[in-house]
Amino acid sequence: MAENIQLEIVTPSKAVVKDEAQIVMAPGSLGEFGVLSGHTPFMTSLKVGTVKYVDESGKERFVFVNGGFAEALPDRVTILAESAERKEDIDVARAKAALERAQKRLESKADPDIDFERAKAALERAIHRIKLAEMS
Ligand code: ATP
Repeated sequence: MAENIQLEIVTPSKAVVKDEAQIVMAPGSLGEFGVLSGHTPFMTSLKVGTVKYVDESGKERFVFVNGGFAEALPDRVTILAESAERKEDIDVARAKAALERAQKRLESKADPDIDFERAKAALERAIHRIKLAEMS
């Protein structure tokens, strides 16, 4: 059987995942990619989205990532994200509150004090978190 991949997902404030994976899928800026053990090394930036991996026991795992970078080596994948959390750790109420705040900001179109890019990014994070947390 093929070797496992050492997967690490870290943010500036914490190590979110340190696990062995049979396969890792991640939302690359140029599209979703998959990494198996023995893969040719590469680096890519990431979009906001979900990292999926199959752990050692065969269970599928899901982790929200807020952009960042991935480095794939033949035996390991390291992801550095601005923020990240496992599906089971997503606080849906918090994400819904963030969604509402962002929507309100985006609706106040004429307000010069609103940073729309920031509000759009917050909206995107909230939507991804809610979708992932509510996925069965
Ligand atoms: P909020 O406005 O609720 O803080 P945000 O999108 O601005 O949301 P981030 O900057 O992405 O938050 O993350 C800040 C920290 O809070 C990170 O450690 C992240 O993992 C955590 N976090 C943010 N939203 C949630 C959530 N809905 N559930 C669990 N953890 C969250």
